[in-house]
Amino acid sequence: MSIEVRNINKRFGDYVALNNISLKFPDGELTALLGPSGCGKTTLLRIIAGLEQAGSGQVLLDGEDASARHVRERQVGFVFQHYVLFKHMTVFENIAFGLRVKPRNIRPTEQAIREQVTKLLNLVQLDWLADQYPSTLSGGQRQRIALARALAVEPRVLLLDEPFGALDAKVRKELRRWLRRLHDELSVTSIFVTHDQEEALEVADQVVVMNKGNVEQIGAPADVYNRPASPFVYGFLGNVNLFRGRIHEGVMEAGSATFRVPDHAKVQDAAGVGYVRPHDLDVQRYAPGAEGIAVQLRHAHAIGPLAQLELVREDNQELIEAVISRDQFAQQSYTEGDRLLVSPKRLDVFVEQVG
Ligand code: ATP
Repeated sequence: MSIEVRNINKRFGDYVALNNISLKFPDGELTALLGPSGCGKTTLLRIIAGLEQAGSGQVLLDGEDASARHVRERQVGFVFQHYVLFKHMTVFENIAFGLRVKPRNIRPTEQAIREQVTKLLNLVQLDWLADQYPSTLSGGQRQRIALARALAVEPRVLLLDEPFGALDAKVRKELRRWLRRLHDELSVTSIFVTHDQEEALEVADQVVVMNKGNVEQIGAPADVYNRPASPFVYGFLGNVNLFRGRIHEGVMEAGSATFRVPDHAKVQDAAGVGYVRPHDLDVQRYAPGAEGIAVQLRHAHAIGPLAQLELVREDNQELIEAVISRDQFAQQSYTEGDRLLVSPKRLDVFVEQVG
């Protein structure tokens, strides 16, 4: 089922939680709603589900206005951060619950319920837990059972609100990969709320970056990461170094350094900010006359295949973070206090003020 929201507005008192949001969620795709706490992700999810009323705007399910459809008729499955399984029911009965409470005329037979629950237990790879009670399960197992329970009624849309938010980092990583595989198998249109950029970029087909009730950008994970539409998206999707300066005829002057700017920012004369990710900085030893920004190595931290360098610009004492390979770090035997030169291999520029 495809989902579309058109011009959705939502206020809580004077507070604007959603500001004229229009988005499409294609059929069978997994979309991540990504943004900092309080940006409106959950509110949007609840409006799509029919749990919350929008101030104005429309929700379309397969092209049809959903306003007249009650939550139960929207055929959505939910998984929340703390999904409360019924404590007094076994895992099997928890999954079967949604089928057992269906109206009599559409309730599956006992035999069909058994088959469906067994299929789901296999799907979430927890068939061996069928007769256990929730209190004996780990957090990760509970969330997988919660997902099986949401899937039992064969929803046409799956809404997941930080489903792995309460779990530790390692389990979280495992489960998000597992969710991706599961989604590939089922192809249910799914919307996944998260404030974890890595999670969104790894799991989703489409990422919607939200900020203060607005959509900042929507696109494939590689697009939003490599071509951020705004400084907010740039900063939110990973570490970044900022170079503030003036752009003039295709060149940006930032302190004592000059950079060539990309085509889109080739304005005549403007104030702007250059953005460079730590791994997009080229680092070499200082040599008089060579191009680049002169820095001093303040601290180095080599972890796994990479070395993180904390550098201080000589011209204005600002900090710069660079990431190079551990091999380069070892070959060059950089030590704290060394004078180095950095230059962007790739620079994105946002123009702030023309003239
Ligand atoms: P989080 O990641 O922290 O859950 P979120 O992006 O999901 O954040 P929402 O839960 O959608 O954000 O909330 C958006 C804003 O609306 C927040 O500032 C929140 O305080 C406010 N808000 C949400 N629900 C209500 C409510 N029922 N009454 C008043 N304000 C609310």
